[in-house]
Amino acid sequence: MSFQRVQEKLNILADAAKYDVSCSSSGSNRTNKNKGLGDASASGICHTYTEDGRCVSLLKILLTNHCIFDCAYCVTRKSNDVKRAAFKVQEVVDLTMNFYRRNYIEGLFLSSGIFKSADYTMERLVAVAKKLRLEENFNGYIHLKSIPGASDELMREAGLYADRLSVNIEIPTEKGLKLLAPDKNRADFIKPMEKVKNEIIQYKSEKKIIRSTPKYAPAGQSTQMIVGASGENDMQIMYTSNYFYKNFNLKRVYYSGYVPISYDTRLPQIGTPVPMLRENRLYQTDWLLRFYGFNIEEILNEQNQSLDLDIDPKLGWALRNMHEFPVDVNKADKRMLARIPGLGMKSVFKILNARRYRQLTWDHLKAIGVAFNRAQYFMVCASNQFEKRDLTPEKIKGLILQNSKSKYTSMLSNQLNLFG
Ligand code: SF4
Repeated sequence: MSFQRVQEKLNILADAAKYDVSCSSSGSNRTNKNKGLGDASASGICHTYTEDGRCVSLLKILLTNHCIFDCAYCVTRKSNDVKRAAFKVQEVVDLTMNFYRRNYIEGLFLSSGIFKSADYTMERLVAVAKKLRLEENFNGYIHLKSIPGASDELMREAGLYADRLSVNIEIPTEKGLKLLAPDKNRADFIKPMEKVKNEIIQYKSEKKIIRSTPKYAPAGQSTQMIVGASGENDMQIMYTSNYFYKNFNLKRVYYSGYVPISYDTRLPQIGTPVPMLRENRLYQTDWLLRFYGFNIEEILNEQNQSLDLDIDPKLGWALRNMHEFPVDVNKADKRMLARIPGLGMKSVFKILNARRYRQLTWDHLKAIGVAFNRAQYFMVCASNQFEKRDLTPEKIKGLILQNSKSKYTSMLSNQLNLFG
């Protein structure tokens, strides 16, 4: 195979992979014990981002962009008139090793269209990871896509060589999936996820008894949902996300604003802006659920089915629950401190620590890094200057927006124009 042909394949298959954003590589602790190449734990994985904010850190490619399915939102769908290519297993192994040795990458993110069948494709993905680990002694990070419908045996093997496995839900509701990806069904995603979840639990418990038990997918599993392709509201997206976090022990759910790529009446028109701001609000909500102790029903419910694009979801919650404020930062528990807009968890821990020695004033809080622009309306401390009282939620929102320089301001006005 000529160098030019491999390069041509690389161009096609790296380009086709760029729509998948589930390539974060945190969470692995695979160390280099066999004097092999790479160490996923030593330096972490560095990430870079394309202009539109998508992660392109690892060698991120498809094994092939041939696909037997015809999912409307996907550039790889069989009805799309694009150049096709397929790597051989050895070619991916060689590329990974060569790029790694040249310090271009620190790991591999390998996905694929489905050629012939789920198992036929999954077998080849597993073969790449297996060769890298066993023949090349590669200890760098490997993220493999699980092909929906792949057999339990292949999923079991995949987790023995990959750091992370992920199967993309893509469309948040079954109705949307039926409309845009009629070849797929929810059960095909759930089966490999269930298998991976159970294997992780089993390998972990065996390791407690037998120390030599190998690690199974040490960085866990993740998934991706496309935002804005099929008309789901934020509540539907986040309830789906919450369900998968809870039932499949997912490490991460990624939200990917739909990039219009086809003339299809079922989808937003080509030229429709990618909903980046909405994507950002969903990530913020995701963090509130995972790290700030919020329940999904507090943020999104029948009365509030969509996130406010103007303000972050924690501020939105606070403005709807003014009876909970102001919070006294010198007395409140961790749960309530975490609910004050403008306080991240780092600030919360700093406050809890600092107030053991003194009563905190605004000056202390500013030094800690509290975002004063938002927090001042929701808390009191040992000094009373700046305290705001008797302001309506609308007035507070207006004051905050007036004083914010959001990097999303221009994006927001573009997106709002769509609904004008
Ligand atoms: S199965 Fe995957 S690769 Fe194939 S068309 Fe659907 S989303 Fe694209």
